[in-house]
Amino acid sequence: MSPQSPRGKNASRDIDPVSPQAASNAATSASKNSTGKKSYVLDIRQPSATAARTATPSKPRDIDTPVVAKPKAPALPNAKKVFIKTYGCQMNVYDSERMADVLSPIGYAPVDSHEDADLVILNTCHIREKAAEKVYSELGRIRQHKNKSKPDMTVAVAGCVAQAEGEEIMRRAPVVDMVLGPQSYHKLPEMIAKVARGTGDVLETEFDTLEKFDQLPETRAVKGFSTFVTIQEGCDKFCTFCVVPYTRGAEVSRPVDHIIAEIRGLAAQGVREVTLIGQNVNAYSTSGPDGKEWGLGELIRHVALIGGIDRIRFTTSHPRDMDDELIATLGAEPKLMPYLHLPIQAGSDSVLKAMNRDHTYAHYKQLIAKIRAARPDIALSGDFIVGFPGETDADFEATIKCVEEIGYGSSFSFKYSVRPGTPGASLPRQVPEDVKSERLKRLQDLLYQQQWDFNQSLIGRTLDVLVENGGRENGQLFGRSPYLQGTHFDGPESLVGQIVPVKITSAGRNSLTGELV
Ligand code: SF4
Repeated sequence: MSPQSPRGKNASRDIDPVSPQAASNAATSASKNSTGKKSYVLDIRQPSATAARTATPSKPRDIDTPVVAKPKAPALPNAKKVFIKTYGCQMNVYDSERMADVLSPIGYAPVDSHEDADLVILNTCHIREKAAEKVYSELGRIRQHKNKSKPDMTVAVAGCVAQAEGEEIMRRAPVVDMVLGPQSYHKLPEMIAKVARGTGDVLETEFDTLEKFDQLPETRAVKGFSTFVTIQEGCDKFCTFCVVPYTRGAEVSRPVDHIIAEIRGLAAQGVREVTLIGQNVNAYSTSGPDGKEWGLGELIRHVALIGGIDRIRFTTSHPRDMDDELIATLGAEPKLMPYLHLPIQAGSDSVLKAMNRDHTYAHYKQLIAKIRAARPDIALSGDFIVGFPGETDADFEATIKCVEEIGYGSSFSFKYSVRPGTPGASLPRQVPEDVKSERLKRLQDLLYQQQWDFNQSLIGRTLDVLVENGGRENGQLFGRSPYLQGTHFDGPESLVGQIVPVKITSAGRNSLTGELV
């Protein structure tokens, strides 16, 4: 794919304008106007006291740990069973939930194992080395089970490996009936029908993101009080280590009315916290209901008006797209949590250039100063890659200096690994594995110490915690602080779904403990 996508930076759609007065009106509606198109008026009322609030566990997860999409709707009589196995990031978790939504009306109920499933979907991630090989191994296990016990099982590969490998999957794994890229899961019913008709293998790897969002069910069934909402997909940045621009396509922003309608529906089901997600979430840009261009800051201010939504987060951001409007919103919008994930990857300008990050360390540092001036209580999180091709000892020291100067409350750090098909894969001066390991250890020692220090600094403070579910012990509750740490404290189960003040009494590197105030 060329770095200059034909679709441009932010493909967007028009929606019907709504006056600012209407937008600040307390009425709630999402209706069709005389042209038959949708318009909306934002709701600033508090949620219904009877809104359903059911608990669901939400624990931090490792990116490599597969998760299983949970049932979202009651099964139809004689429902078929679908098993969706999800690898990778929160975008894939969201996609799996939406696949379950698409399949529910045609009678598929999610199950927790492929053993008795009629349809198995592997929703794959290409971010890690050898991702495709892991998928082929899993397909081998599924093939054995299908041959032995479930010959009519339908097998699909979805997600980024599907996008990257396409027909190769069909060739190497004849057990696979369908391959669908991340922009095609709304076509699942049609694809299943084609497989049932025996019209041969079905492959869908088009890049039409907007069509997908147009065709997904408007309502989304969720459990729990905190959920992800995709507002943007794709990436035009082409960092030389990353496959995302090749597997997810160009940057595309979802229309405002779709996002608002989805979040209103979530609030009606009891959701209190939404995390707006996108590969480059702060590249969000589209024509707003007032006819003006809306960025992420404007969108967040309107999401904050939706009754029932008390907490907003967004991830993942790129330093290049961190504009003044978003920084001002961070400073002014109390529902926006004081936690920002803003990856830099490396502290050396020459490595940043080789990575094609299109910013320098000085630019990043200036941004952080502005953000901290706007929101002094903000905690920062970052991504770091050590051992990028050509990284010298001096370059690595620049990363250490960056971490010392900026200070992070949490982080994600990795050794560089080759992603086939990316420019980084063919760069000279690959760093030896033992050097990468040494550097990663030194970096992580520093980052983990900072995370520990940050958590310790919260002891004695009272934080608002969104209670997600019961804890491990009887009488214990588990929730999330504004800084996203898991927080344990004692309290009655009736508090599940509430935001309650908790005084922090002790802290580890990954979690906090406290008492109800
Ligand atoms: S900005 Fe993020 S998603 Fe885009 S290419 Fe770089 S690392 Fe990948």
